[in-house]
Amino acid sequence: MKILVANLGSTSFKYRLFDMDAASERMLAKGGYERVDDHGVAIADALEKLVADGHLSSPDDLDGVGFKTVLGKDLSGCVPADEKALAALDGLAAIAPAHNPAYAKGIRQFSKLTKARLVALFETSFYQWVPEPAKRYAVPPSWHAAGIRRYGFHGASHKFIAERSAALLDRRDIVERVQQLYVKGPGPEPERKPPLRVVSCHLGGSSSVTGILNGVAIGSSMGLSPQSGLPQNNRVGDLDAMAIPLAMKELGLTLEEAVQALSKEGGLLGLSEVSNDLRDIDQAAENGDSKAQLAIDHLIHSIRHYIGAYAFAMGGLDAIVFTAGIGENQGSLRKAVCEGLESFGIIIDDTANAQKYSGEAFLQAEGSDVNILVIPTNEELVVARETWRQLQK
Ligand code: ADP
Repeated sequence: MKILVANLGSTSFKYRLFDMDAASERMLAKGGYERVDDHGVAIADALEKLVADGHLSSPDDLDGVGFKTVLGKDLSGCVPADEKALAALDGLAAIAPAHNPAYAKGIRQFSKLTKARLVALFETSFYQWVPEPAKRYAVPPSWHAAGIRRYGFHGASHKFIAERSAALLDRRDIVERVQQLYVKGPGPEPERKPPLRVVSCHLGGSSSVTGILNGVAIGSSMGLSPQSGLPQNNRVGDLDAMAIPLAMKELGLTLEEAVQALSKEGGLLGLSEVSNDLRDIDQAAENGDSKAQLAIDHLIHSIRHYIGAYAFAMGGLDAIVFTAGIGENQGSLRKAVCEGLESFGIIIDDTANAQKYSGEAFLQAEGSDVNILVIPTNEELVVARETWRQLQK
């Protein structure tokens, strides 16, 4: 079965084509477009290219298209990308303005260009079973009813990490539980003891930390929107609710201007005043720029804050996993995150950590109780697998 996974940003479109069946999964092609003005043009071009390169005989040769949709009003999980899903995306577009309109547009475009079945896997899916106390904000009931609660994002990535970390730690029972999660739900707690307690750190252009107990998320640093938790590249992380009215009053901003500033001029860019890319910030810090150093230290502080919170909530920790652009590549940051935690059984091996990895690796020192891993994430594969499953229905 040929399944295309579509990754739509506000100005980008990336895709991967997979050949999937029950026994095998193979990536056939990938590509992408940056600085996209018209998603329709980019999508049509990508389909033409896949035909020209011989991967498809026509756009209708596709069996399915999977979308890594972000946030739906009253809708999560893996569902047909139909009118109901489009309405759910529109319903919360105000809090995911960079993502929801792009996906809605993309889904409409694909439905015009191919007869393939369209499937949406919401990024919130992995958090469906987070215990209620961890999901709630202490807001008036009408706010809660309006959808103001913690959702959590990067679900495809953290689910991939949940499965791979369990495999690397020889917990076949947890691997199977994660694989079946969107079909059967978590089911009863695994019989095999001890529990597997993992904290997954997805650190990239946007970043989040998730606590994963026996393969199931117990919470995410991201809440109502992807503008919470850790500082993002240019977007704010955690922020007190009264900051917005104060900034509006003191700086004479409209609500739109305040929201815009938080989503374009905040995060690592706002703190460092250098760049939204950690590589540039690192370089500046090395050259003695104190604001750049502050941005890095703030990110480290925030990651440690959430690792500690989830380790405590799970009653201990078996593994810390680093993934995505920063997590996979920035050894100095991984080292700083793990520093001084020997009394919690967390000891990183400096030599192993300093290597460049293109695959999976264990980084803990001998004598460390906690495993420290690098695992390259593969969100597209998670979307392709769930799309394939949806197509079997
Ligand atoms: P996105 O969320 O946009 O997919 P990525 O996961 O690619 O982002 O992560 C982008 C971030 O990862 C940037 O801040 C960048 O500095 C960092 N990064 C990417 N590659 C490297 C590298 N080779 N070395 C250090 N940092 C890197």
